[in-house]
Amino acid sequence: MKIPFLNLHNQYLLISQEIDQAISDVIKESNYIGGKSVKQFENSFAEYLNVNHVIGCANGTDSIEIILKALEIGLGDEVLVPALSWISTSEAVSTVGATPIFVDVHPDYYTINPNLIEEKITKKTKAIIPVHLYGNPAQMNRIIKIAQENNLFVIEDCAQAHAARYNNKLVGTIGTASSFSFYPGKNLGAYGDAGCIATNNESLAEKCRMLGNHGQLIKHNHVFEGRNSRLDGIQASVLNVKLQHLNKWTSQRQYYASLYDSAFCNKEDLIIPKTESSAEHAYHLYVLRSKNRQAIIDNLNKNGVETAIHYPNALPFVNAYKFKGYTESDFPVAFKVTKEIFSIPLYPELTKSEIEFIINCIINP
Ligand SMILES: *Cc1c(COP(=O)(O)O)cnc(C)c1O
Repeated sequence: MKIPFLNLHNQYLLISQEIDQAISDVIKESNYIGGKSVKQFENSFAEYLNVNHVIGCANGTDSIEIILKALEIGLGDEVLVPALSWISTSEAVSTVGATPIFVDVHPDYYTINPNLIEEKITKKTKAIIPVHLYGNPAQMNRIIKIAQENNLFVIEDCAQAHAARYNNKLVGTIGTASSFSFYPGKNLGAYGDAGCIATNNESLAEKCRMLGNHGQLIKHNHVFEGRNSRLDGIQASVLNVKLQHLNKWTSQRQYYASLYDSAFCNKEDLIIPKTESSAEHAYHLYVLRSKNRQAIIDNLNKNGVETAIHYPNALPFVNAYKFKGYTESDFPVAFKVTKEIFSIPLYPELTKSEIEFIINCIINP
């Protein structure tokens, strides 16, 4: 059976009428930057999250960068980031001139380990960026407490965690501000690059909006220099359609994850994803862990099932940060985990028999 790691075309086929209509409405109106669909998405996503302000951006990486700039974080400042993430998290910190300081991850949750945060705080530390990795919320109760005690901003990286919850609240509403990516493969994905910022802080929201649009709120009134990072109308129209399906799609991901969990929880040499009791996982990725991962991957691939590794190297060990000279003992958990993790297909468009086929390939190789 051929099971791709992701099948965006199948998803499109299920909603093609709504999508085609939404895109053609934007073209008819020919309002490609800003305009009705962008306003509508910003309002609907703010309402969905239950947050006061949503600001569309060109992509998720920009949205982290713009939040950092708006908080006046830059040269000479330090920002704590998890050792395991997509590079955007640390890259955005460097782009504004600040220094990303890596913190090792929790051995069960693979998110930033609160026990290791305080030892990394210095006079230069300005913020923490917890990443809700794979859709699994970071340990926000502890992180928020540490941030309050040390006067730090908390920027949630929600790129993989649309619809994930913590203490029954959607992630992205807990910290100072949050960043979302709508890269096509994310749980809420556009048909190109897109992202947004969410916050309850009105002055921060206004500053972010200006930074992403050349320092202006009113055309030709450039209060300061910003940049160009706007959400375009066609992407927003796709997101407007898909947002209506997000809860249903998330429940389907959670259901399939529960089938995987119960099939794999007693298998020796296989570790299933774990969540903190306050957290509700959105399963952007279903990440298993095994000392024998190569044999399992080879067998799945031989049976037509695509797999992936998120990520083969922890951030401190990718070439971009080689100059920092880290060794395995600096981030032992992230180092070890990246040698054992692998991701198997999990998306709402899979059929139950495909899920059962994948389970069978792993249980009865
Ligand atoms: C995808 C992703 C981003 C950034 O998203 P882009 O929209 O591709 O810029 C940031 N952080 C994490 C953890 C991501 O997975």
